[in-house]
Amino acid sequence: MENRNTADLLKALGFRFNKALGQNFIFDTNLLDAVVADSGVSADDTVVEIGTGAGTLTARIADKCRKVFSFEVDEKLKPVLSLSLQGIDNVEVVFRDVLKMSDDAFRALVGDGKFKVIANLPYYVTTPLIMRFIESGLDVESLTVMVQKEVADRICAAPATEDYSALTLAVEVFGTATLTRKVSRTVFRPSPNVDSAVVRIERERNKLQAKDIRLVKRLIRAAFAMRRKTLANNLQSAFGMPKDEATALICEAGFAPTVRGEVLSLDDFVKLSVLMKQKRGD
Ligand code: SAM
Repeated sequence: MENRNTADLLKALGFRFNKALGQNFIFDTNLLDAVVADSGVSADDTVVEIGTGAGTLTARIADKCRKVFSFEVDEKLKPVLSLSLQGIDNVEVVFRDVLKMSDDAFRALVGDGKFKVIANLPYYVTTPLIMRFIESGLDVESLTVMVQKEVADRICAAPATEDYSALTLAVEVFGTATLTRKVSRTVFRPSPNVDSAVVRIERERNKLQAKDIRLVKRLIRAAFAMRRKTLANNLQSAFGMPKDEATALICEAGFAPTVRGEVLSLDDFVKLSVLMKQKRGD
């Protein structure tokens, strides 16, 4: 079912989609409701949406939760939104870029309680926006995001596959990712060149409790810095350690001296970090 009113409103107001801002909007209310259902939001939740667009997803989220803070960078959408979200009193649209806001500035607007993120993300900043939340000090409970299908595959990849990446592991440090649905490019207006998928990332609190998370993340970044190089070479460059020290560490952790980072699981990186800390006090 298409939400004709908002689509017609955009046309009537002469709105021109800005490709550079990733403006591919969704008007299909069945799909929008399905995305909200995938997120598991309930009546007491505060939701942060990134990319209000014409407010079609915003309105469906607002119907299911306590309060929505929706961030948008394109002020040309103001006249559209003042009509499409008219009469919905639990939505606050904020014309600011969350990528350029500190955690404190964000809390000053949204409060310091927990919240869930739901977004049909602008593709050109998908990874920075996901990282913005999962690496922050903010109390994010989950992120349910529509992303390019290829990015969804990278987020949910298994070790030793082509899609496995530093992004996969960054998300795994935060929690558990599930691909909840695939979405055809044909449902977007205008239609992009790629298909999409919805991924729900659920925070697992205290997942790496008592572990040195900073060191684990540093090791992951190092391992994927030059994907084609061996882990020993990457550790040598990133930590400035002699090659034989790096190789000894890798062997002691139970891996082959020529192993590449792309085959290691999160548990393997944790194991490596514990050994490294013992040996170097890093
Ligand atoms: N939520 C709407 C929907 O589902 O139809 C719009 C989704 S559209 C893919 C992404 C929206 O994000 C666009 O309206 C774009 O202007 C906005 N946007 C782009 N960069 C942004 C940023 N850094 N912060 C917030 N919004 C952004």
